[in-house]
Amino acid sequence: MKCPRCESKFVNVMVKSPVGDVWEVYLCDTCKFTWRSTEGENITDPEQYDKRFKLNPEEFEKLGHIPPIPPLTKNK
Ligand SMILES: [Zn+2]
Repeated sequence: MKCPRCESKFVNVMVKSPVGDVWEVYLCDTCKFTWRSTEGENITDPEQYDKRFKLNPEEFEKLGHIPPIPPLTKNK
């Protein structure tokens, strides 16, 4: 299985449905995307996931933090 957003293979089952074996929630270790097994193919299938929201792991480094982390203040 691959993450639909960044296509990483580091995907874990985060939680299973508390009652019965109805669904599972998966967590991508790379981009922290989570999705449920019962969601449509436009969410679960990397090929059909909306390309505007795709992430490339190599670009994570360039993404800014929101909100920005202020520099540590030094005590003199
Ligand atoms: Zn991912």
